[in-house]
Amino acid sequence: MSNEGKIYRVAGPVVTAVGISPRMYDVVHVGNEMLMGEVIKIVGDYSIIQVYEDTSGVKPGEPVTNTGRPLVAELGPGLLHSVYDGIQRPLAVLQEKMGDFILRGVSAPGLDREKKWEFKPVVSVGDVVEPGQIIGTVMEGTMEHRILCPVDVQGKVDDIKAGNFTVEETVATIGGKDVIMMQRWPVRVPRPVREKHQPNIPLVTGMRVLDSMFPLAKGGAAAIPGGFGTGKTVTQQQLAKWSDAEIVVYIGCGERGNEMTEVLTEFPELVDPKTGNPLMNRTVLIANTSNMPVAAREASVYTGMTIAEYYRDMGYNVALMADSTSRWAEAMREISSRLEEMPGEEGYPAYLAGRLSEFYERACYATSLCGKDGSISVIGAVSPPGGDISEPVSQNTLRIVRVFWALDTKLRERRHFPTINWLTSYTLYDNQLKDWYVKNVDPSFPALREWAMQTLQKESELQEIVQLVGSDALPDDQKITLEVSKMIREIFLQQNAYDPVDTYCPMSRQFMMLKLIKKFSDLAQKALLAGATVDKIVGIPARQRFIRSKYEETIDDELTAIDADFDEQFKQLGA
Ligand code: ADP
Ligand code: MG
Repeated sequence: MSNEGKIYRVAGPVVTAVGISPRMYDVVHVGNEMLMGEVIKIVGDYSIIQVYEDTSGVKPGEPVTNTGRPLVAELGPGLLHSVYDGIQRPLAVLQEKMGDFILRGVSAPGLDREKKWEFKPVVSVGDVVEPGQIIGTVMEGTMEHRILCPVDVQGKVDDIKAGNFTVEETVATIGGKDVIMMQRWPVRVPRPVREKHQPNIPLVTGMRVLDSMFPLAKGGAAAIPGGFGTGKTVTQQQLAKWSDAEIVVYIGCGERGNEMTEVLTEFPELVDPKTGNPLMNRTVLIANTSNMPVAAREASVYTGMTIAEYYRDMGYNVALMADSTSRWAEAMREISSRLEEMPGEEGYPAYLAGRLSEFYERACYATSLCGKDGSISVIGAVSPPGGDISEPVSQNTLRIVRVFWALDTKLRERRHFPTINWLTSYTLYDNQLKDWYVKNVDPSFPALREWAMQTLQKESELQEIVQLVGSDALPDDQKITLEVSKMIREIFLQQNAYDPVDTYCPMSRQFMMLKLIKKFSDLAQKALLAGATVDKIVGIPARQRFIRSKYEETIDDELTAIDADFDEQFKQLGA
C-alpha cells in the first residue's frame, strides 16, 4: 500500500489524487503546503479528496500523503471555553499564528498540550475497570470533567496517579495499556452507549411557547425553520443561555458575512444566568466563518456532535445547536457538484436525506458505558430561501425530527416574538412527557395546555367569520373566547428575549399564568350568564394589571394578587 501520491486534478475544494491507496475517510495532506483533506470517494486508482483549506494555487503534480487515519476529534479537558473551526483547530491559536486571514497548512491541536490539569483518580490499583468507566476527575473550570476509560481499554488497574498532568501524560495503566486524559475519536462514527431510552424528560428552556406548548424532550431533536430575521439565532441563543442542559455545543454556520463575527464577539460576553459566570465556561463554540472553505463546514457538524457525545458519556445533558443546517446542506451540495454526482432535488445530493437523519439520530437519551444517564438534545435551525419550507432541506429535516418550531414572517411583521406559529408548530413528545408535567408541574397541567391550544384553534376559526361579518356579529360568549385567546397570545405566547424578567419564565410561573388566563375565561363566562356586558368584563382592572405584570420583578407576587383580584372584581360582575 502506498501512502505517497500526486495531485491529478484540482476543482475548488475537491482534489483528485493518484498513487495513494487510502480507505474511505482517511485524512490526507495535499500539496506542497500540506493542506488537510479527507478522502470522500475512491474510483479505481483515483482518490477524491475534500480539502478543508483554500486550494487556490495548488497544482497537479504536487505531492499527496495519506495519514492512514480518519478525521478525529480530540476529547479531554480543555474543550469547554474553546472556539474551534470545523476541524477543531482553536481559532485563537490560528489567529495568533497567521493574523486575521486563515493561512494554509497550519495545524493546531484541539487540546492544549502544555496545560496541566489536576487529575483525581476514582479507581484504585487492583480494581477491574470496563471500557467507558470513569477512572478519575478533573475540574474543568467549574465543571467536573470525568475521565473515561477508553473504549478499547479494560482490565486490571496496574497503576493510577493523582497529580497534575498534561493531556498527553500517562495517568494510569490499565490492562497493560497506558492511559492518557486525551482520547481521539473519528467524528463520523457515533460513540457507543450502553442503552438508549425513550426520552421522557423535557428540555426546560424558560420559553413559554416551547415548554408549555411544544416541548422538546431531553435527547430529542427539534427543527426551527424560518425566513430571514424571524428569530432563529435569538431562539438558539436563548436556549444556549437558559435551557437546563449542563453543556452547550454551538455550531455556527453564518448566514450573512458578518454574522459569525457577531457570534464570536457576542458569545464570549454572554453571562450564564444561573451562575453569573461566562456562558463559555460550559460551552464549546464551533465557528464556520464565511472565509472558511465549505469542506470544513461539512465536517463541523460531526466535530460538534462528537464533542457533545463525549460529554453525554460522562453523564451530562448536552444541548447542541446548529445554526444554520441549511448552510451545512449547501456545503454538501457544493462538494457533490464538484464531484459531478447526479444531482437530486434542487441540486442537493441524493444522500442529503441520509446525512440529515444520520446527524439527527445521534441525538439520544442514554445510559452511557459508565452507567450514568446523559443526553444530547439537538436543535437545528433551517433557513429556507424566502422562508418557504417546501424546499428539500426543510422537508427532509421535518421527516426526521419530532419537534417543529415554525417561525413565521407574518408574526414578525406583527412584532409577535418569538415568532413561533402556534397553529403549525408541533411536538410528537407530548404523550411521553405528560407524566413529567403531572409530577413536576401540576396534575392539571396537561388539561390546561390542551384547553389553551383549543382556544387558539377556536380563535383561528372565529377569525374567519370575523373577517366576513365583523366581530360585532359574534355572540357574546365567542367575543369572550376571542379576548381570552388574545390573552393567551399576548400575555403567554409573546415573550421578550431582551427583557430582564420576561426573558426566562420558570415552569411554575408558566403554569400560574395559564391558570390565571383560564380562571379569567371561566369567570368571564359566568359573569356573562349573570348579565354582565363584554365591555365590563374585558375592562376589569385586574386584566390590565395581568398584562403589565410579566415585566415586573415582583411578578410572582403580582400573579398571586391578580388571582385574588379576579375573584373580587368578578364578584362585582355577579360571577
Ligand atoms: P434569524 O436568525 O432568523 O435571521 P434573528 O434571530 O437574528 O433572526 O432575529 C432577528 C431579530 O428579531 C432580532 O434581532 C430581534 O430584534 C428580533 N427577535 C427575535 N426573537 C426575539 C425575541 N424572542 N424577543 C425579542 N425580539 C426578538
Ligand atoms: Mg440567524
